[in-house]
Amino acid sequence: MLTISNLHKSFHDQPVLRGIDLKLEAGEIVGLIGRSGSGKSTLGRCMVGLETAQSGEVLLQGQKIVFGQVETRRRVQYLWQDPVQALSPFLSAHATVLETLNGFRIGDKQDRNEHAGKLLDGFGITKELSTRRPHMLSGGQCQRVAMARAVAAQPDVLILDEPFSSLDLVTQLSTMQLLERIHATRPLTILIISHDLAPLLRLCKRIAVLDQGRIAEELPKDDFLKGASHALSRAYVEQLQ
Ligand code: ADP
Ligand code: MG
Repeated sequence: MLTISNLHKSFHDQPVLRGIDLKLEAGEIVGLIGRSGSGKSTLGRCMVGLETAQSGEVLLQGQKIVFGQVETRRRVQYLWQDPVQALSPFLSAHATVLETLNGFRIGDKQDRNEHAGKLLDGFGITKELSTRRPHMLSGGQCQRVAMARAVAAQPDVLILDEPFSSLDLVTQLSTMQLLERIHATRPLTILIISHDLAPLLRLCKRIAVLDQGRIAEELPKDDFLKGASHALSRAYVEQLQ
């Protein structure tokens, strides 16, 4: 579904990504783990064209991504690490989702209002909450509004940047269950970026480790637990016990 080849990205001559190769198969949930500051968010943003890589390419179903294109913007959705950053401060939760449905002309015009409400409800944003703007919602609620908006676009690929880090444990669990339900209903391709292995083990089929600007190791979940060989991967596994 999505192939990243030899992607290089530097900021002010400081290399962050030094030749990233990563493939996401259709319908697969893949985890990307790495230290804080290792370039995970930069990679996620390069994948949707929010950052421009110096070299390398990103292919969506074999076609080079043209980032300005509306269709690409719809098909690959990136969820910001900071949920508040993800949302417009001037739009209510309902207007946020509705804007996406209108912008991408999803469904019939007369049904969009109701559809937006249903989507938000599915993410635990009640009718009352859906009238609120981001500053009147908690971080976790903003996160779920941003997720509802991303799903509203009916993307093929969803990139979730640290989707659990601003959530308490109970909300983390319900968000994971929600993602599982979404994936079961419509098996879209998901990349979950995280600095924590536990949620990735629950959700992902495969785990890739980003270290020193490269994918240091990439293994199916069970092999990752039993036979990871890279020092950083092993440190993550040991830290679980
Ligand atoms: P991670 O998400 O793994 O914590 P980031 O991708 O946010 O890491 O950052 C990787 C490195 O790139 C950090 O050193 C960060 O300071 C730097 N960086 C990220 N975005 C920018 C930017 N827009 N301009 C300059 N430096 C940046
Ligand atoms: Mg980050």
